Amino acid sequence: SAAEAGLYTATDQIVLLTPENVDSVLVNSSAAVFVEFYASWCGHCIAFSPIFKSLARDIKEWKPAVDLAAMDCAAEENRKVCISYGIRGYPSIKVKSHVRGVCAGPCFPRDVQGLRRSIIDKLETHKEPWAPACPPLEPTSQAEIDSFFDTNNVQHLALIFEEAKSYIGREVTLDLLQFENIAVRRVLNTEEGLVARLGVTEFPSCYLYYPGGNFTRLSVKIEARSFYSYALQRLPGVVRSGKPPPVSTPVLTGNSEEPWRPFNRSRVYMADLESALHYSLRVEVAAHTVVKGEALISLKKYVAVLAKYFPGRPVVRNLLKSVDSWLQNQTRDEISYEAFKDILDNSAQSPDAALPEGVRWVGCQGSQPHLRRYPCGVWTLFHVLTVQAKNTRGTDPKEVLMAMRNYVHSFFGCRSCAEHFENMAMESLMEVDTFSSAVLWLWSRHNLVNNRLAGALSEDPNFPKIQWPSPEMCPACHAVKANGDHSWIQKEVLPFVLSYFSSSSILTGAHR
Ligand code: FAD
Repeated sequence: SAAEAGLYTATDQIVLLTPENVDSVLVNSSAAVFVEFYASWCGHCIAFSPIFKSLARDIKEWKPAVDLAAMDCAAEENRKVCISYGIRGYPSIKVKSHVRGVCAGPCFPRDVQGLRRSIIDKLETHKEPWAPACPPLEPTSQAEIDSFFDTNNVQHLALIFEEAKSYIGREVTLDLLQFENIAVRRVLNTEEGLVARLGVTEFPSCYLYYPGGNFTRLSVKIEARSFYSYALQRLPGVVRSGKPPPVSTPVLTGNSEEPWRPFNRSRVYMADLESALHYSLRVEVAAHTVVKGEALISLKKYVAVLAKYFPGRPVVRNLLKSVDSWLQNQTRDEISYEAFKDILDNSAQSPDAALPEGVRWVGCQGSQPHLRRYPCGVWTLFHVLTVQAKNTRGTDPKEVLMAMRNYVHSFFGCRSCAEHFENMAMESLMEVDTFSSAVLWLWSRHNLVNNRLAGALSEDPNFPKIQWPSPEMCPACHAVKANGDHSWIQKEVLPFVLSYFSSSSILTGAHR
């Protein structure tokens, strides 16, 4: 389709406009929609598309108030719509405001921060209530705060003290838009009464204000948007709208369920890795009664990588090695799953080689039976394998990632996940040229997926999707750029990931 031929795909969190949906998106939505009209052949548009994509990730939480959309005016079927919007040059960004565009041509910034700020400016300068879902962005006053809890039924009020030219207060307000039990207001440094009452001396700084006038300063590593938003989204009682609140005793339904096992959320468990192996080899691969062609190549590569790098117990490693050598000896273009299963179950060939049956999730337990578990195990397994390949100095830096790509492509039951992952692999896997870059590639792709899935149905309310590792887990991994936007310190992330997933930090505990 035209949408697929354009510069954006469905995973970019940008609405792809077509003649069919343009009216409903631009007219009926309660958000302010910023539309990029582009031509897929235009060099500036191609250069701008990664910026527009990162903007979409950056303001994902603003969605009820602000949405991004794109239309490829190079596609024949879209020409009429582009003409009706008066588009003459590319790229053009127009704001749907129930009325008409306010900006065309090269009059918009070409960086994420500049774009984000001009979106806020547009939201604020519009007179009519054209984006009904937009929260109040204007600075608050002492009078409003004094009566705040009379009219607002929220548990937390976050006050961001800042100078008039700062955007942080408004950005954080929008970042918290999809969360309940919290309101955010900006207070200007010129609001003397409040500044004196709370004894504020640093701008920006963030305070939590409670009924009766109690307050505490929000403690963050750096006084910046990303640190405020992350901390506020995680305050006790703050939940994503429409999500059930986190439960202290997870709900487990059905009497076949095993009891909840308490675990350390910042550790890797061997039980999850073995469960992922069991599920992938005995359930997912078993969906193919005959494994042939591309799928057989995928299976061989997957098992080869497991045999080389799986840092498991000797019995499991022995089993993987014997399955691997059996597979490598299969010269025909197909094998039956039954034959594979015989080797996998070892048929008493060797008493010191076995892959335990069944799953026993620990770090990948979900608060509901349909949450976390196997996909969590798959991510964990491949992070461990990329780290292990680096530590044992394999020969090909892409080996593990290619095995993962092929496995996911041929066998991963979540087909849309497989498609998204394949898109990411096509886009950037070739850039991987060292073992360290392989580790970091998987880490950063996993974060892209986390960004996309934050708030989705597959998110376990007890395990919200975050940009990982959090500032608590690895303070040194986080910093801000000169302009105040978040940045990762990759030279800190790498050792963190290496140590987190290293074989010596995997908790073995009691086996079944
Ligand atoms: P997971 O995302 O599964 O992560 C497991 C553990 O890894 C976390 O608990 C954390 O300890 C650690 N971790 C988190 N982030 C990182 C990181 N950046 N680097 C290193 N470690 C990290 N679901 C969909 O709904 N749509 C999709 O398109 C989709 N695509 C997927 C593609 C692949 C290849 C896989 C394996 C899964 C995909 N899923 C998708 C499932 C989804 O990503 C999660 O696995 C699932 O929702 C369970 O989430 P979780 O909370 O257990 O954490």
